Amino acid sequence: MTTYLFSPPAVISVAVRGVDARFPVRRVICVGRNYADHAREMGNDDREPPFFFFKPTDTLIDSGVPMPYPPLTTSLHHEVELVVAIGTGGADIAEEDALQHVYGYAVGLDMTRRDIQLAAREMGRPWDWGKGFDLSAPCAALSRVSDVGHLSKGAISLRVNGEMRQSSDLSELIWGVPEIIAIASRGMKLEAGDLIFTGTPAGVSAVKEGDLLEGVIAGLEPVSTRVGPRAHTTKAQPPTAQARSSQ
Ligand code: MN
Repeated sequence: MTTYLFSPPAVISVAVRGVDARFPVRRVICVGRNYADHAREMGNDDREPPFFFFKPTDTLIDSGVPMPYPPLTTSLHHEVELVVAIGTGGADIAEEDALQHVYGYAVGLDMTRRDIQLAAREMGRPWDWGKGFDLSAPCAALSRVSDVGHLSKGAISLRVNGEMRQSSDLSELIWGVPEIIAIASRGMKLEAGDLIFTGTPAGVSAVKEGDLLEGVIAGLEPVSTRVGPRAHTTKAQPPTAQARSSQ
C-alpha cells in the first residue's frame, strides 16, 4: 500500500440536484471569449477559434458559500457561465457524438482579477494569476442530462445586488457545447469528472466587498455568492476544504 508524507488533499466535488452523491471533479477547463459581444467588449475579433485555460480544481466552491475578496487586485470581475460536466471521457470525440459524454450542466462563475489578467495579456503572459486564485469558481449543483436534457438555448444572466449586469442567451455561444467538447478532446483526452466553463457573455463588471452575485440559467439551479471580506489580511485563514462545501 502506498504511503504518503502527509494527508493527500480532499477530493474536490460539486453537488448534484436530486442525488445524495457528489460529482468528483478532475479538472476545471475554461473557454476564453465564447460570446461575440463579450469578445468585442474585451477588444477582440469574434471569429477566433476557441482557446482554453484552466483553473485549479480547488478553486471550486458550492453555491451559497461566501467568496473572499482576493488579494493583489482592485478589479474583481464576475463572469457567469454554463458549466458542462463530463461523465464519460474520450479523445478525438466527434461533434455528433459529443453530447453523449455529458453528465450534466450547472451555472458557474469564472471570477477574474481583471487588472492582472489584462496586464498579463498585454505582455503575452499566461492568464493563470488573473484566473486561478483561491475560491474563484463558485458552482451551483449540477443538473443531470437525464433530468434536464441538453442546453443549446435559454436565458443566462447575472445580477449584482439584484441589478442585472449580464443578460444573454446560450444560443449566442460562438462555439456550442458539442463543438467545444470535440475541439478540446483533440488537444487532450477528456476524462470523467472534467468540468468545462464555456465562456461568458457581455456585461462583465467589477464587484466589491459585500456584493451579492446571483447567476441564473433557465432550467438549472442558480448560483450565488457574497463577496468578502478580504482574504489574506494575514489574520484571516483560508477556509478549509470542508468549509468550502455547503454540506
Ligand atoms: Mn470566463
